[in-house]
Amino acid sequence: LEAKEEFRHKTLATDVMRPRQSDPPLSVLTQSGMSVEEVERLIADTTYSGFPVVISQQSQRLVGFVLRRDLVISLENARRHQEGVVSVSAVLFTECDPPASPSAPPAVKLHNILDLSPFTVTVHTPMEIVVDIFRKLGLRQCLVIQNGRLLGIITKKDILKHMAQMANRDPESILFN
Ligand code: ADP
Repeated sequence: LEAKEEFRHKTLATDVMRPRQSDPPLSVLTQSGMSVEEVERLIADTTYSGFPVVISQQSQRLVGFVLRRDLVISLENARRHQEGVVSVSAVLFTECDPPASPSAPPAVKLHNILDLSPFTVTVHTPMEIVVDIFRKLGLRQCLVIQNGRLLGIITKKDILKHMAQMANRDPESILFN
């Protein structure tokens, strides 16, 4: 995202964020309640660079963001080196352990790889501001929130695609290109 030209279109974060209405829902992790197997399946079934972590599927309240590569490495490590970890072991992003039955297999604790302050904007944030923040902070992605609920994600590539689209629609650029 080069800082050469200003982005002057009147589009909003909601116009650029994914998923689109026709897309499958956002792939999120919950801070507790998922098993190693479930998280591994999510990783295998998707190619996304990262996953938002929410309090629960129902609340969709954002807790943080975890990078795919950190998740893969940590799960592999736990499978290999943490005693007693099995497919049904719980995966926890929480700081404190929720109560578990004494017979449950040991949990995999991943609080340490969770980014607790991922950048967020609202659905109404003008893209002009989003582009500026991506440039200034060198972001790779940001999350889109409305009324405390996580609604979407915008990656750097989404922005680049959007800018290319807008440039093509711009009558002046059609005239001069
Ligand atoms: P990039 O945009 O650089 O290819 P990703 O592979 O992470 O990065 O994302 C691919 C597409 O999927 C983008 O349009 C992005 O907005 C969207 N996306 C990213 N993460 C998720 C996710 N966890 N759930 C649903 N869609 C996502």
